[in-house]
Amino acid sequence: MVDQLLSRLGVSAQAASQGAHVIHSPIDGSRIGAVALEPASSVPAKIAAAQQAFEAWRSVPAPRRGELVRLFGEVLRAHKADLAELVSWEAGKITQEGLGEVQEMIDICDFAVGLSRQLYGLTIASERPGHHMRESWHPLGVVSVISAFNFPVAVWAWNATLALVCGNAVLWKPSEKTPLTALACQALFEKALKAFGDAPAGLSQLIVGDRDAGEALVADPRVVLVSATGSTRMGREVAPRVAARFGRCILELGGNNAMILAPSADLDMAVRAILFSAVGTAGQRCTTLRRLIAHESVKDEIVSRLKAAYAKVRVGHPLQGNLVGPLIDRQAFESMQNALIKARDEGGQVFGGERQLADVYADAYYVTPALVEMPGQTEVVRHETFAPILYVLSYRDFDEALRLNNEVPQGLSSCIFTTDVREAEAFQSAAGSDCGIANVNIGPSGAEIGGAFGGEKETGGGRESGSDSWKAYMRRQTNTVNYSRELPLAQGIVFD
Ligand code: NAD
Repeated sequence: MVDQLLSRLGVSAQAASQGAHVIHSPIDGSRIGAVALEPASSVPAKIAAAQQAFEAWRSVPAPRRGELVRLFGEVLRAHKADLAELVSWEAGKITQEGLGEVQEMIDICDFAVGLSRQLYGLTIASERPGHHMRESWHPLGVVSVISAFNFPVAVWAWNATLALVCGNAVLWKPSEKTPLTALACQALFEKALKAFGDAPAGLSQLIVGDRDAGEALVADPRVVLVSATGSTRMGREVAPRVAARFGRCILELGGNNAMILAPSADLDMAVRAILFSAVGTAGQRCTTLRRLIAHESVKDEIVSRLKAAYAKVRVGHPLQGNLVGPLIDRQAFESMQNALIKARDEGGQVFGGERQLADVYADAYYVTPALVEMPGQTEVVRHETFAPILYVLSYRDFDEALRLNNEVPQGLSSCIFTTDVREAEAFQSAAGSDCGIANVNIGPSGAEIGGAFGGEKETGGGRESGSDSWKAYMRRQTNTVNYSRELPLAQGIVFD
């Protein structure tokens, strides 16, 4: 099955099945591939090839660079179903979410193509007569993308498509848990390169490796930008190393996303939003809803409605019409169970959270999503456990709700369900939510590519995808031109 998908996507059997690093599907634990992990020692040569490619690519006009990304978007459209299914086999996503992830790649291609004709700088008024000032945006160099298992294809596409239209070369180190989808993306990208014709060799390369390979990218000063998505632990290791060599980082790290449920909230809508954002992707999205901060007047009702809704959630094989697929691996299951034990110790009342289908899939980890009523924002609640656990807290007044929303180390996504315009506006104001994403009457997950994506505090501060995130992939240059016959100095300085 997976062999056929890989072959249709253009991945050779040699690359996908003859290495020492075995890939097991989270769906049923079966072996779906075996890849060779590249040692860190192979990274410098790839960086050198990328540097050479960059030196040619930076002079290709940006709209022509956009043509390569346009062609890639076409290839993705033609292979959407196969790539989505491979995402399901390797990362455990349900059909709809696999398709959604590939659609996100297609959307960012469209966005990047438009952007390739809009890499605008400013014209700035000069204080000196006969002068003009402008700002130019130039390509940056070699950009590396380090990605996590849970968005095995979209995160690379968010970064690579923008980096490429901005005139850079790209090196991608995917998660060691999801190398097959990465091989498939590379094969599809090579189809686009072939149709494009004259792109330099080494423009977009894949490094199938583990942490060592990632560390080699992080250490090398030729890699001017490291865009790293993953745990806060990883970000803590990467950020100081890149800073020590004055490189740039885009960090997209862990989240601990909340919803404030106000007394005026439309509860029917809120239940649907909570369900999608708390149990979708089996709680393995960086934007998963992890904390429900409900007003004391609606808390009991929402908990009882959620219990009824949770009881109906179909957990099972992600390609067979279920809503919740498996956790990525045993380790994820164990950390979920440990968090639930801790939550009980800290006074929580746990509903759900048990393993399911162990008799059918002994080597796969399906769980009933857990709902945990907590007496307060205890230590376990402040920590991101990458599994479907929703902690429920209650509040009395809006200020308390806001304080709870902000009083965690992470700052990715947040939302409020309210029909009170004062609360909605206050939540999104300067003194409101401290997160990179703050929504009203929409859950915290499932962002569109048009906005800048990322978060504050331990989430790392990076922004990717839409808005003006492209600027992170370029270097800014200020240009002053004197078209007069005098040489006046700024600030009126006389230097005779
Ligand atoms: P992880 O941190 O274990 O691994 C992520 C990537 O970093 C992998 O490719 C890994 O090989 C690499 N890596 C690890 N240590 C490294 C080091 N010292 N130097 C260089 N590379 C290193 O994360 P994961 O378990 O794959 O993913 C889950 C985490 O990712 C969660 O915390 C989730 O919130 C986060 N995430 C964040 C976003 C976001 O946009 N904010 C998106 C997706 C996932």
